[in-house]
Amino acid sequence: MTFLESIQLTQTIPCLAEPDKIIVTGRPSRPLDEALPYLATLPNIISYNPDVPALTFRRQRGFLTLYSQKVYITKVLNVEEGLQLLADLVDAINATWAHRHELKPVTAARRAPKLLDIWSQLPQTNCKQCDEATCMAFAAGLLQQKRTLAECPPLATDAALSERRATLEAMLG
Ligand code: SF4
Repeated sequence: MTFLESIQLTQTIPCLAEPDKIIVTGRPSRPLDEALPYLATLPNIISYNPDVPALTFRRQRGFLTLYSQKVYITKVLNVEEGLQLLADLVDAINATWAHRHELKPVTAARRAPKLLDIWSQLPQTNCKQCDEATCMAFAAGLLQQKRTLAECPPLATDAALSERRATLEAMLG
């Protein structure tokens, strides 16, 4: 029995860092909660927070984040590639689910994000509104838990950055 029938593409928005690419958002045909602890055993995980729950993978370019009822993929070339990636994701989730009895589900948060992973999700404008000289310095503060996401005003207020904020929240737990 397959776990998931489909992930419907619900929204595309431009990637801020690379405006020629898009962020694709999708809605799974059923909540992913049961599958996420098994998916968290796969490689290329940046962060897993079972309390949200949220699971973020590094792609060849960009990120793939899975929530209970939402997935989003950054740095996608176009809608056609987005649809293919969502279809591939359905296959990957179903294959993992089919082999779940061979896997040890992950129930604890894991894998601290790396500095560059955090920086890549910040606005990268070095606007200094956070009183840091650069977004990289702010990223370091976030990693050391000396700063919070709310202290980056563009990230806190710009609706166009909401997906990045969600990714960072998932990374930082
Ligand atoms: S406020 Fe945000 S965008 Fe501006 S420098 Fe700080 S981290 Fe970068």
